[in-house]
Amino acid sequence: MTIKSFCNWIRSIYGTVEDELDCEAFTQVIPHYVDLKVAGGQAEASFPKIKQHLVQCSECCDLYHALYDIALIESQEERLQAVRSDEAQVESAELERAVMASPRVTLEPS
Ligand SMILES: [Zn+2]
Repeated sequence: MTIKSFCNWIRSIYGTVEDELDCEAFTQVIPHYVDLKVAGGQAEASFPKIKQHLVQCSECCDLYHALYDIALIESQEERLQAVRSDEAQVESAELERAVMASPRVTLEPS
């Protein structure tokens, strides 16, 4: 092994260690990871270190699952509300049409 490749080898080892997430960094990044995951994005590909830390740290794994559950429920509620407001719009449009149509019906000579 040459000096140069030895240095590169050392750097790669320490580089990897520095590159790993600690729990504090994890808690800062995890909300973004969860958001992306719930939105159906490429969470694992965007945050490869998160997955690595999840495997290594059970505490952060628990935190992730708790946050994910909350985010999932929130996104489902948002989707439900969106559907409900769509239905409400359709209903009011139908009601409007019925109200607009009814005077014409009654005014028409029989
Ligand atoms: Zn951790």
